[in-house]
Amino acid sequence: MNNSFRLMYLKGIPVEIHISWLLIFFLFSITLALSYFPAVVEGLESPVYWLAAVLTTLVVFASVLTHEFGHSLVAIREGIPIKKIVLFVFGGVAQMESEPKSPAAEFKVTAAGPLTSMAIAIVAAALYYLFFSSGQLIGEAVVFVARLNLIMAVFNLIPAFPLDGGRLFRSIVWYFGKNILLATRIAVGLGSVISFVAMAFGFMLIFFQGDLWGLWLIFIGWMIYQAGQSSYSQLIFKETFAGMKVSQLMSTDLQTVSPDDSLEQLAECFLTYKYGAFPVVYGSTTHGLVSLQNMKDVPREKWSEKRVSRILTPLKDTLILHPNTDAADAMMKMASLNAGRALVMDNGELVGLLSRTDMMRFMQMHMVLGSD
Ligand SMILES: [Zn+2]
Repeated sequence: MNNSFRLMYLKGIPVEIHISWLLIFFLFSITLALSYFPAVVEGLESPVYWLAAVLTTLVVFASVLTHEFGHSLVAIREGIPIKKIVLFVFGGVAQMESEPKSPAAEFKVTAAGPLTSMAIAIVAAALYYLFFSSGQLIGEAVVFVARLNLIMAVFNLIPAFPLDGGRLFRSIVWYFGKNILLATRIAVGLGSVISFVAMAFGFMLIFFQGDLWGLWLIFIGWMIYQAGQSSYSQLIFKETFAGMKVSQLMSTDLQTVSPDDSLEQLAECFLTYKYGAFPVVYGSTTHGLVSLQNMKDVPREKWSEKRVSRILTPLKDTLILHPNTDAADAMMKMASLNAGRALVMDNGELVGLLSRTDMMRFMQMHMVLGSD
């Protein structure tokens, strides 16, 4: 995900914060400072409310992080490396390098999140009953944290894929049906039904009760529906490319440019061939890839003097695939690196170019014409 910055490392796992989280941070602090705390504890100075609000928001933030860390620790124990944890507007996600290998592994990794939130809720509630009473600022903050973690656990347990509950449901269907594709389809189907019910309920709240909380239901329902659909299309491309190799999808009638070409000549190539990028080759040596993107920052008057070699993306920064790589893996790699294309090389020799557009076209063809 772009627009995120690295906050810290947690047991070697990078933790990133998406900028949308900052917005939530402000909204949360403002709501707590101006509305929630003054309502439950009366008569304090405004800076005190603000201090309590910001500290409580930080604890909520730590709770979300701990939930994701719970998933991560169990995933690592199950042999699935964690790429990073990203916190964004609606919580967080622990990005796994691969899907769990078995239903049991998926069940354990998924359950760890809500269980962590539940544990935090119980500890906070216990602290409250042992040390505080209602009407105390710290006590109210502790109760708030307890409630929020409880809500987080319960919300995540809704069986709408890809929420934790939907993943638990999928692992159970997967266990009994022995088929992950079918299980995902069923879980995504149930998730869609739930998100539509939530949206319908939201509309009814607005129209019949004039209750604007309905907007939240519509919004959340829509987000879950979208997320479910995108996991489903990921699954479809896994199916589409099953058993296919990069060599079957790459283009081999390669148009290349030389590192000594001027940018003027390069512009001519873009206009003539209408490709988005060209491999840069001199003799039998491949130097890298040059795309329209590389060119766009060079002012036009420099085009005649500047050479392709000065602006190209060098080989070490280009995604390089082997012709025998699985097509689905290649697509996944391109998506995760946000690379539009990859050079296909065999023993140091350039044999083809694979673009995401080509792969998308193949997927469309596959959907329309069927697997034959
Ligand atoms: Zn979770």
